[in-house]
Amino acid sequence: MQVHILASGSSGNAIFFQMGSTKVLIDAGISAKRIELGLASVGVRAEELDAILITHEHSDHVKGIDVLVRRHQIPVFARPKTWEQISCQEKLPSACVKYLEDDLELNNLYIKPFPISHDAVDPVGFTLFSGNFKGVVATDLGLVDEAVSDALEMADIAILEANHDVQMLRNGAYPTFLKERILGNRGHLSNIEAGKLLANIKKKPNMQVFLAHLSRENNLPSLAYNTVTDILTQAGYELGTDIELRCASSYKVCSYIA
Ligand SMILES: [Zn+2]
Ligand SMILES: [Zn+2]
Repeated sequence: MQVHILASGSSGNAIFFQMGSTKVLIDAGISAKRIELGLASVGVRAEELDAILITHEHSDHVKGIDVLVRRHQIPVFARPKTWEQISCQEKLPSACVKYLEDDLELNNLYIKPFPISHDAVDPVGFTLFSGNFKGVVATDLGLVDEAVSDALEMADIAILEANHDVQMLRNGAYPTFLKERILGNRGHLSNIEAGKLLANIKKKPNMQVFLAHLSRENNLPSLAYNTVTDILTQAGYELGTDIELRCASSYKVCSYIA
């Protein structure tokens, strides 16, 4: 099992998962060139991808699709309503445009989308199962509901949004409408919300967590890490034993290989 977060944040998102021989990319929100280079740095060629899975239509999740898919003919799975919002759809080879319904099986990998609350037409997170292994991607969500906590429960690895520090956002330079959007129920998850979610779910020992989609303006990796660590410690968990935390980056590849 391998996870390589090629990029994470509002400037672009792309996460590579390999389970057994199956290789998928979740979101393609950086340029095709950056995706190819990121994959090459971990020994993978883009044409080896079995699928690309799209969480929602915001450009930081889809802007690399056009070139990447026309160049390498990779099947792309997105919700039907999401496809309607992706302007390059007509330019893609029709065999690559795949509608994501309830779940998906690719070789040994079982993929189940779950709904998230975000200001997009039909946004989803993903759970990936292979044998006893469970991986989760949950970013771009304004709140934690039962679908989200169920998805995170008993995961071996989770890529979880810790977008902002509420104080930094409130005191920062963003215009009021944008602050309200981010803080709202269809915006983004704060460090505290991410910490509480992790503290409250049923966990496997040694759960691996990447805090992701960190805001460059309204967060710092150290602040996200420390806030979540404090909440987990107060809840009685030992960092490094019960749960291992890392922060994903917007510009460098972050990897976990098991
Ligand atoms: Zn995003
Ligand atoms: Zn978004």
